[in-house]
Parts: sequence; structure tokens; C-alpha cells
Amino acid sequence: MTTKKSPQTALIHSDYRPPAGFDAFPTAIHHASTVLFENVAALRSGQWKDKNAYTYGLHGTPTTFTLEARLAEIEGGHQCLLAPSGLAAIAMVDLALLRAGDDVLLPDNVYNPNRELGRWLEADFGITVRYYDPLAGAGIAELIRPNTRLIWTEAPGSVSMEVPDLPAICAAARARGVLVALDNTWSAGLALNGFAHGVDIVMQALTKYQSGGSDVLMGAVITRDRAIHDRLSMAHMRLGLGVGADDAYLVLRGLPTMRLRFEAHDKSARKVAAWLAARPEIARVLHPALPDCPGHATWQRDFTGAGGLFSVLFDARYTEAQTDRFVDALQLFGIGYSWGGANSLAIPYRIAHMRQNWRDAGILVRFNIGLEDADDLIADIAQALEVMA
Ligand SMILES: *Cc1c(COP(=O)(O)O)cnc(C)c1O
Repeated sequence: MTTKKSPQTALIHSDYRPPAGFDAFPTAIHHASTVLFENVAALRSGQWKDKNAYTYGLHGTPTTFTLEARLAEIEGGHQCLLAPSGLAAIAMVDLALLRAGDDVLLPDNVYNPNRELGRWLEADFGITVRYYDPLAGAGIAELIRPNTRLIWTEAPGSVSMEVPDLPAICAAARARGVLVALDNTWSAGLALNGFAHGVDIVMQALTKYQSGGSDVLMGAVITRDRAIHDRLSMAHMRLGLGVGADDAYLVLRGLPTMRLRFEAHDKSARKVAAWLAARPEIARVLHPALPDCPGHATWQRDFTGAGGLFSVLFDARYTEAQTDRFVDALQLFGIGYSWGGANSLAIPYRIAHMRQNWRDAGILVRFNIGLEDADDLIADIAQALEVMA
């Protein structure tokens, strides 16, 4: 700077520039609303959509571009967009791809806030929303109408854990020119390759395994097709779905250990699930890797592992007061939503009121198996079962 600075201006402007050449393993955290341009020509030529330039903090920084690129690679996709939560990522897909007069199909076991979004689209946006049996497989063809634009899938579905036949659903959708979106959160992009099975759009709640710390909310939408990505990125831009730099950093920090954590969750969850399957209080264990889970054979065919999340159905002779007592008596399991972190969690659900096909079922309890010692978790469940009885 050539002009002399007053002390007040020196608080804001400085001539100091740190030396170039710094390098380290962690991705740098770039905080920015305003992004600076070299000159007016650069301001005019920046194309936010191509991600070849920085235009505004909302549209991306080196931190968020790095996270997007890494997630696309993990999932086997080509493009990725970040959103401030998994639910925001779902909403981005719907608002990008659907308009008044369109029809969308949701599995009956869809993540409940996705169902709630569907109710809103139907009530106020002129979109029809219909629910299909998550085990419909090729039978979904009969439900596709000329105005059906999108089919959501979830593998496995929330709470009741049915595993859908993705190749069959995708083949039926493709034959009619309908896009398929997959909520792949349970597999973290590690145990199920959605694109290999034919889906067009993969959504992830990074809130779960990618972060791993129970301290971040974030979502991602990953694609292979540039034209679909471009439609999504228009919605992303118009809705202002930017994410914070510190949050993006926390997710980047979780990635190197994700597979190790995922495999540890998987191993412990299978051990706890197998133990529960042998208990007289439990009618059914809904873990995709166990034969009692609807769609188990599909899991065997299509997945290379399992997450730490599964559910159990208590025998119908137990009242809700008893199963509540069971959950309250657990000492190593927190009671709370979300999952994928180091801490185990348990939540009861009145599944008979939630699903068409589960009218006679007893109370369901969903477990997130954390990174504690599996035998300690089993001992904790054993003592809580005694309190219940
Ligand atoms: C948690 C979750 C989401 C939503 O993620 P948030 O970041 O909590 O909004 C979406 N789908 C599934 C299957 C989830 O478990």
C-alpha cells in the first residue's frame, strides 16, 4: 500500500502477507461471506456453477469444494453438493426435480421428515405423493404414472429396516424415464454402491458416520450425470443451501477414520443383534444381516457390510409401559435421535401405528450401537431386560 494509514484503518488493512509454501495434512478452513476478486474482469468472468472460480461464500470455498470432491469420490460419483442437513439435501432434490403436476413415489418406511416434506409438497405445491411397499421390487412398475418424475429409495428404510431391491426398482424406473434417488445414509457410501445398482442420485446425511462426532449437521447430494447435477445446483443456489466452514472441516476430519469406525459399529451391532435374537423377550430382530429382516437376501446380494443401526420388535405381550421401563433402565445407551456417533442410543417406536403392514407388531426399539465394548452393551441390555420384567 502506498497511501499512509491512520491507526483506525490499520485495524482493517495490513500490508503483511504470510510467506507462501505452507502445507499440512488438514484442509484449511476458509471462512468467507465476501470472496475477493483480483479485478473487475475476474468478477465478471467467474462461473459459480462450474466451480472454476470463487464468487461468494455461499457457493463454495476451497474447504467446501474439497469436501464435495472427496464425498463424490467415496460414493463413486462425479459431482456433489453440500446442504446444511440431511433433510435439506432431501428437500434440494425434491425442489430441483419436481414441479406442480408431477408425481413422486416414497417408500412406506421412508425417513419420517422426508414423509413430512411429502405432505407439504402435496398440500401446497400441487405435487402428488404416493407411498409404495419398500419390498415392491419390480412391482413398482405398476405404480409409475405418466407424470411420475422421481422415486425415493432408502436402503434399508428407517426404523423397520426393510431392504429394497434397488436394481429391480431402478430398472423399472429407467424403462419409464423416472429418476431414482437413494438415501444411502445407513451404509455411509461404504457398504452399498448406489450408482452400481442403477440409482441416479445418492443422498447422504453426513451428520451420521462421516462426521462421527454427534456434533455436526450436514447433508450431501451426489450424482454422476452432469445434467441432473446442474438442475440440483440451481436449486442449491436459489435456496441458499451453503454450509459453514467449521462444520465442513469437522466432516473432513472424520473421513480418514470412517471405515475403521464403520467396521467397528458393524461388528458390535451384529454381536448385540445376534444376542438379542436369542432372547425370549424379543419377537424379531430387524438387522439386515440377520435372516429375520425383510429383504435380508437382498442385503446379502447387494451390500458389503452393515451399519450400527438396527431395530428389535418386543414380543407383543410386553406393554408400552414395560418397554419404556426397559429403555429408561439402559445405562450405556442415551435416549435421543440421530446416530452414527461413538455413543450408543435407543429409541422406542409405536411401529404398529406407523406402517401399513405392521398392525399386530409389539413395541419396536431402535438401537444405534456406538463404539463402546460390545460385551458391556450386552450386559447393560441384559440388566435393563430384567428391570422391565
Ligand atoms: C438422519 C437421517 C437423515 C437426515 O439427516 P439430518 O442431518 O439429521 O437432517 C436422512 N435420512 C436418514 C436415513 C437419516 O437417518
